[in-house]
Amino acid sequence: MPELPEMEIVARRLGAALPGETVESALAPGINALKTFDPPLHALEGRTFNGVRRRGKLLMLDLGELVVLTHLMSAGRIQLHPKRAGLRDRTSRLLLRLPGDRELRVREFGTKQAAWVKVLRAEDVDGDEAFDGLGPEAWPDPPPLRELLASPRPLHSLLRDQQVVAGIGRTWVDEILNIAKLSPFKRGDDLSDDEAETLRAAMTSELGRVIDVYEERVDLPLPEKFPKPTRVHAHQGEPCPQCGTLLEAVFYEDYVMSYCPHDQTEGRVLKDRRLSRLLK
Ligand SMILES: [Zn+2]
Repeated sequence: MPELPEMEIVARRLGAALPGETVESALAPGINALKTFDPPLHALEGRTFNGVRRRGKLLMLDLGELVVLTHLMSAGRIQLHPKRAGLRDRTSRLLLRLPGDRELRVREFGTKQAAWVKVLRAEDVDGDEAFDGLGPEAWPDPPPLRELLASPRPLHSLLRDQQVVAGIGRTWVDEILNIAKLSPFKRGDDLSDDEAETLRAAMTSELGRVIDVYEERVDLPLPEKFPKPTRVHAHQGEPCPQCGTLLEAVFYEDYVMSYCPHDQTEGRVLKDRRLSRLLK
């Protein structure tokens, strides 16, 4: 699922390729993915890309007076294809056709239809509700975390809350907490100054490391599956990269939270939520 590092490399790659390109035609074959009707989608036709920006997990394609704002959610992808897709491709949500038979595609895989696209006037972008209350960027220079995370909620949930800090999701939160040697269930307001500083350093270094990996490995047309350099998330049963203890995991309905019991939970193996729910 695309989080800050994935969207950052998408913004960089599209930001290098799209400026100067003109939209020949715009189509939204996906049911309900397009959340706006004024300005209409066809208002993009004939417009030229100026640039591409990212904020949190949101992507903005600038086309002069108009901006395409998209959130890929958990299963969406955006790709610059050298060939046009057939309109019967059920994964397609938005197709911006470019000269030379190329196409910018927003696609979504899986059964949920959650990814969305908006066509906005440039002056309305900042006021769009997608940015309401969005927290500061998790990378490259987030504010001190002690105040930011001062809440009784657990770190795993706080760090993934885009209103608290923008950009982190289920994959990179596990890596960051492992590096910081903090329990996913530790309360945000229980962090000491040192722990908050360690967590901030882990966040910036890990997200930066992943972006560096993508810089080397990810190129256009942009992959359906990113070559994710994870070491902890979904690596339960494998040795912890810090200490070699076998990683454990808690399974939730649609995701897994992986951690090192030696470094993060003082030797405790956390309850399997999925199992305990079934046993009730
Ligand atoms: Zn460990």
